[in-house]
Amino acid sequence: MMRFDIMTLFPELVSYVLGESIIGRAQRSGHIEVNTHHIRDYSKDKHRRVDDTPYGGGKGMLMMAPPIYDCYTDILAKSDPAARRRVVYMSPRGPVLNQKKVKELSEYDQLIILCGHYEGVDARIIEEIVDEEISIGDFVLTGGEIPACILTDAVARLVDGVLADPVCYENESLSAGLVEYPQYTRPAEFRGRAVPEVLLSGHHANIEKWRAAEALAATERLRPDLLKKET
Ligand code: SAM
Repeated sequence: MMRFDIMTLFPELVSYVLGESIIGRAQRSGHIEVNTHHIRDYSKDKHRRVDDTPYGGGKGMLMMAPPIYDCYTDILAKSDPAARRRVVYMSPRGPVLNQKKVKELSEYDQLIILCGHYEGVDARIIEEIVDEEISIGDFVLTGGEIPACILTDAVARLVDGVLADPVCYENESLSAGLVEYPQYTRPAEFRGRAVPEVLLSGHHANIEKWRAAEALAATERLRPDLLKKET
């Protein structure tokens, strides 16, 4: 069982997204646990404020360190002290997430994820609690909630028991540094396009050979960068 603890100002957004489909089922079957934590509950301000203007000037508001720190220590107090855990801040400054990082994070027992909002968070909370910053792409979103859902979804599906069959992810895009070969289902012909004959042949060795060649061809066409570097 892997545990995810997500610190956010919008817990309902995160719970809703992760409560559906495969990840929702994985929570109900006890293969993963996803807890959302409302940072605002840890504000000591009578108006429950969690942000303030940046020192030195500049536009926008920054999330203050103390409520995030108190939220984090509360999560730790309710966690298994022996758990192998990693604390991640979703941030456009971080290295961009890839399948290799997803696999690495799936080997922890607990992932604590901090979602920023507004102009981000006070730098001292990153120094104090965060092991690594991770971006989901070279663009800027309004908040870390969608990135946290993406990270949780990608990591959770590698946890034992979440997918029916591990073969589901062993052959898929990026696991072996290539994108996936094209796949087909019924009908055998669609708008004049027939399913490649080899797939109907029942000859497993030929099918495997065809799939390997198609995966390489698709990678050359769609993601030539993958062939030049390790993923
Ligand atoms: N001022 C920050 C900067 O330039 O790095 C951007 C803050 S952004 C508007 C607000 C929050 O959204 C960030 O704190 C982060 O949690 C999240 N966020 C935005 N883009 C992201 C991305 N590409 N990957 C991960 N998180 C992102």
